[in-house]
Amino acid sequence: MLFLRQIRAVGFKSFAEPTTLNFTKEMIGVVGPNGSGKSNITDSIRWALGEQSTKSLRGSNMDDIVFSGSVDKPAADFAEVTLVFDNQRDIFSTIKTDIVEITRRFNKKTRNSDFFINGEKCKLRDIQDVALETGLTKSSIAIISQGTISTFAEAKPDARREIFDEAAGLAKYKKRKLEALKQ
Ligand code: ATP
Ligand code: MG
Repeated sequence: MLFLRQIRAVGFKSFAEPTTLNFTKEMIGVVGPNGSGKSNITDSIRWALGEQSTKSLRGSNMDDIVFSGSVDKPAADFAEVTLVFDNQRDIFSTIKTDIVEITRRFNKKTRNSDFFINGEKCKLRDIQDVALETGLTKSSIAIISQGTISTFAEAKPDARREIFDEAAGLAKYKKRKLEALKQ
């Protein structure tokens, strides 16, 4: 089973200060008052795994994911999130290290995102390939946000099938097949 061990975030949404969240057990609960940042945690996972849709990150443009400042803290210039996955069971077939670190950094000035796997710069496409192996991607049911259940229940059969394919890890093979057919 995929095990996300740690999230490190700075400048991402409400994570103004460098923040480390350690997930030491397979099942954990996060509690807090409304607006305290619980959903921002799942947003940070999706974002680091290459999410490009600002709408699904509950913003109107990419700047909205950068800490916008508060009474006592200035706005941040950049947002950075690192996801630390356990890879002892080779979940990520193409990466051979026991720990896999996925990092995304967005610079507000350049409006560019940089991606890193284990500290080495890579392309968004590499992250998207890795993300498909996690099953944590956009339409998957691994992250069920507020309101998603009704969307899922009301989805047309084809759209629902896509969600199941992604959750079952079939999406990456479909993507590769389409790419092969194009060549
Ligand atoms: P609920 O229980 O209502 O679902 P929640 O704990 O899930 O709440 P979130 O939606 O994760 O809360 O967090 C919302 C908070 O994040 C708001 O207080 C909002 O001001 C803050 N926030 C979101 N984006 C930014 C940003 N770019 N800069 C600063 N704060 C932000
Ligand atoms: Mg919430």
